[in-house]
Amino acid sequence: MTDAPRPSPETLLAQAAHFIDPADGAIVPPIRPSTTFARDADYALMGRSDYIRPDNATYEAVEPLLAALDGGAEALLFSSGLAAASALLETVRTGEHVVAQRIMYYGALTWLRRVSERRGIGLTLFDAGEPESLADAIRPGETALVWIETPANPTWDVVDIAAAAELAHGAGAALAVDSTAAPPVTTRALDLGADIVFHSATKYLNGHTDVLAGVLVTKETDARWQEIGQVRGLTGGVLGSFEAWLLLRGLRTLALRFERASASALKIAQHFEGHPNVARVLYPGLESHPGHAVARRQMRNGFSGMLSLLIDGDAEAAKSVATRLKLIVPATSLGGVESLVEHRKTVEGPTSAVPDNLLRFSIGIEQADELIADLEQALDGI
Ligand SMILES: *Cc1c(COP(=O)(O)O)cnc(C)c1O
Repeated sequence: MTDAPRPSPETLLAQAAHFIDPADGAIVPPIRPSTTFARDADYALMGRSDYIRPDNATYEAVEPLLAALDGGAEALLFSSGLAAASALLETVRTGEHVVAQRIMYYGALTWLRRVSERRGIGLTLFDAGEPESLADAIRPGETALVWIETPANPTWDVVDIAAAAELAHGAGAALAVDSTAAPPVTTRALDLGADIVFHSATKYLNGHTDVLAGVLVTKETDARWQEIGQVRGLTGGVLGSFEAWLLLRGLRTLALRFERASASALKIAQHFEGHPNVARVLYPGLESHPGHAVARRQMRNGFSGMLSLLIDGDAEAAKSVATRLKLIVPATSLGGVESLVEHRKTVEGPTSAVPDNLLRFSIGIEQADELIADLEQALDGI
């Protein structure tokens, strides 16, 4: 007997949790919302679990799919991306050292700073655009975790995952990759040497702006992974059954949504490069982007729908563009079917390193030409 070929991510996703219920032939898996489970006449558990926090049956259709997509051994669902990041940080001990990016998802960096102060964990930040600065930040024997985000919010700097893995492993550290902007249909960080991959499933994986969720996928079910599982059960950062089910529904169209958003974002980036009211377009899919060559290598199926424009003007000019848009909605978050724009500096506050004139766009699945026309009219006359 020969093994069946491994299905492609597109096929895995389209048939997400492909399932035929022996009871009635249903092909969509059920939602299991019961929080508690009865015991029998001998006071033995009737099923495998007594309570939903440590063991949720609805996850059974979702976690193995997420693990397979990223080519990992196992995946764990969390109540949000930050709950997942926090469970991973919980495995770092006082006295150990963490390396992260100077410009990365602001919420995760804020949490990392707090954990570092409160728990006596060293923290060194590096510049994603400068590969040597990662090598300088890592302390052999002391650094336990290197956390990278690529492409990184909101400048879309690209970090070479394979090179980062080599540096981290050479120093005895683990590499975790925030791959929220590069879901596994385009980047499989574990294949490139990462130990743990993180996704805010709130973004591309769910894709419909109606579920808050996080996921970690591990290459190996080692001691750190066991600890992460325990932390999730003990701190209770678990995803609800309804959200897990909705996430599965969103995942079925991930490949199509990501392909469309990436194609439109590239078109928009190319259109506005050199526009008189745009000082710079930040998009890894552009040849002018400093991370383009690495992005081509590690983003095999599109450069995502995320791009930023540096408006030729100040913060007020950038905000006036955002508010003049008619189709693109001024709102935070990313990776949904609808296009959004955000003035990041307003959201991150005065301590943020993000340029004043930066507008971040999450391109959705609308008609690209209509989005271009909307941007043209908003830029007109600043
Ligand atoms: C949104 C986001 C997070 C945090 O995830 P939540 O689901 O909002 O908790 C982390 N990293 C990146 C890159 C994100 O965009």
